[in-house]
Amino acid sequence: MAKKDIDWSNIGFGYMETDKRYVSNYKDGAWDAGALVEDSTVTISECACVLQYAQTIFEGLKAYTTVDGRVVCFRPDLNAERMVDSAKRLEMPVFPKERFVDAVVQTVQANIDYVPPYGSGATLYLRPYMFGSDAVIGVKPANEYQFRLFATPVGPYFKGGVKPITIRVSDFDRAAPNGTGHIKAGLNYAMSLHAIVDAHAKGFDENMYLDAATRTKVEETGGANFLFVTKDNKIVTPKSDSILPSITRRSLMTVAKDYLGLEVEEREVFFEEVPEFVECGLCGTAAVISPVGCVNDHGKEIKFANGCTEIGPVISKLRETLTGIQMGQIDAPEGWIKEIK
Ligand SMILES: *Cc1c(COP(=O)(O)O)cnc(C)c1O
Repeated sequence: MAKKDIDWSNIGFGYMETDKRYVSNYKDGAWDAGALVEDSTVTISECACVLQYAQTIFEGLKAYTTVDGRVVCFRPDLNAERMVDSAKRLEMPVFPKERFVDAVVQTVQANIDYVPPYGSGATLYLRPYMFGSDAVIGVKPANEYQFRLFATPVGPYFKGGVKPITIRVSDFDRAAPNGTGHIKAGLNYAMSLHAIVDAHAKGFDENMYLDAATRTKVEETGGANFLFVTKDNKIVTPKSDSILPSITRRSLMTVAKDYLGLEVEEREVFFEEVPEFVECGLCGTAAVISPVGCVNDHGKEIKFANGCTEIGPVISKLRETLTGIQMGQIDAPEGWIKEIK
């Protein structure tokens, strides 16, 4: 076998079909053994719960090649755990954590020629998901479910270098108090589509969502958590029950504390405080951390003093350190790197 003939540095972030995906079905109260299959299509009832009532959850993680040629994933056990939490909130059966990690390993091994080489900046994106598959017309959870996991190569998130983005304060809400903001459910994204299309149309890269109840506290964007840096180099991240607990953000907080010796704080962050921070970043699997240069609050611009036109020094150092850990150039904390091959 040989690496696929793909222009790794120029593939962008889109779906490309690969050879095998993992599928397991839940029926009569139990998951089947699961298997790798070649069919990339899904056939379900026209009345499937996922199609009528959006009973679906997902995860996202990456496989990539380290500096010494190993193929690895970053903390897949935390994706497995988060999917358990998501399933419970949407009344779906739990896909066991060990089986989730095994499905990750099997799928990457079966598509090993699609894992981009070290240094290309590209990765093999993995998308585990689960949905209610049998017919439901009265509103209730499905009886049958499908868990799937496919792989698709994606290009470097930042082509031509990391550049700070501009975001706007959104008048739309992302998540209700006591709602589903803390789980990775498709429904959270369906309702964010209008807000992001509108933001892009007005020239902004992302939406900053405030808490829906009081509109005074910073929550997150549509798909990434915030990190802020104070004047005295403290790292602050918003705490809220309606934020999705990003694995990248949690890892960066550990990196800040244990590798860079910085003070870290997870607490409520009031929008009023934002102008006092000197750097801001958005954390998620896709970009690791993208610098935010400017927040537009209904026409009023808040520019981060140390990261407005170029990525700031603290966000930059955090980014270098975590990507160094992921790529095997810096020793990882115990259990962070799952070796596939
Ligand atoms: C997936 C996601 C994130 C990022 O989480 P990671 O585990 O770091 O990829 C942040 N916010 C939302 C709403 C998400 O869905």
